[in-house]
Amino acid sequence: MDYESVLIKHRFKYKKSLGQNFIFDDELLDEIAEAGGADGATVVEIGAGAGTLSRAIAKRCKKLHAFEIDAELFPILAETLDGFDNVQLMSNDVTELGIETVDMLIGEPYTVIANLPYYITTPLIFMFLKSELCGSITCLVQKEVAERVCAKDGGDFGVLSASVQAVAEPRIVRIVKSWAFDPQPDVDSAVLRLDRVAGTAYSDELHAFLKDCFAQKRKTLVNNLTSVGVAKADVTAALDKLGFSPTARAEELGAAKLRELGEFLGKL
Ligand code: SAM
Repeated sequence: MDYESVLIKHRFKYKKSLGQNFIFDDELLDEIAEAGGADGATVVEIGAGAGTLSRAIAKRCKKLHAFEIDAELFPILAETLDGFDNVQLMSNDVTELGIETVDMLIGEPYTVIANLPYYITTPLIFMFLKSELCGSITCLVQKEVAERVCAKDGGDFGVLSASVQAVAEPRIVRIVKSWAFDPQPDVDSAVLRLDRVAGTAYSDELHAFLKDCFAQKRKTLVNNLTSVGVAKADVTAALDKLGFSPTARAEELGAAKLRELGEFLGKL
């Protein structure tokens, strides 16, 4: 489909304030939809834009719930998604709805696939990691953010990596060069897929605990956690149970063990 002609016909002007950087390359869009597991699935898309990724998803999925907040895009979406009766468009701002309402609206297990505005990517990832129904999230993020999310150790492994990896398995599907977007952003992107780890749950308590663990990266966990009021003896005992020395730093434990540490300390 010639999306650009449809946008011109509707005199559409991109809104930088809504993070509008569209993708028109059908091969890339198909690859994203496939990597996100659209086949036969119930899919939630945030930011339908001109419906380019929505079409690639709708061709494969059982049902697509697509959110878009720019009212000007709805006549365009009516054209680009014409004939797909498995698509439900919603004009809500997902960030305002909250995850309980989104889960209630969808009402069955689903997967998220999205090319999001970058300023809401991280909050939305964490919002969907709290969902009881969302099994995976596949989205475009700034390349450096994807690398940080996936980092297992070293300088890049911090609160962001630990928070995601405590409840999900992340992987970079592919890098997307900035020229694949219109208008072209300053940075390259990556398609990031997060698969929820069964039996784990993301929570504000988990995030707060991990923030405390990494409060001063060079300091030991004992130092960081005692400075927020945890008894030193409790931290060393918990570290001992997990097989770590009392001088261990947060990055030595990795995400899963940090979550266990939080559980031992009654923080989660
Ligand atoms: N999916 C399209 C694509 O790949 O070409 C558009 C992607 S564009 C990066 C992001 C889209 O999200 C824009 O159309 C923008 O209007 C929409 N958007 C911005 N904030 C939103 C929000 N809070 N909820 C839903 N959609 C939003």
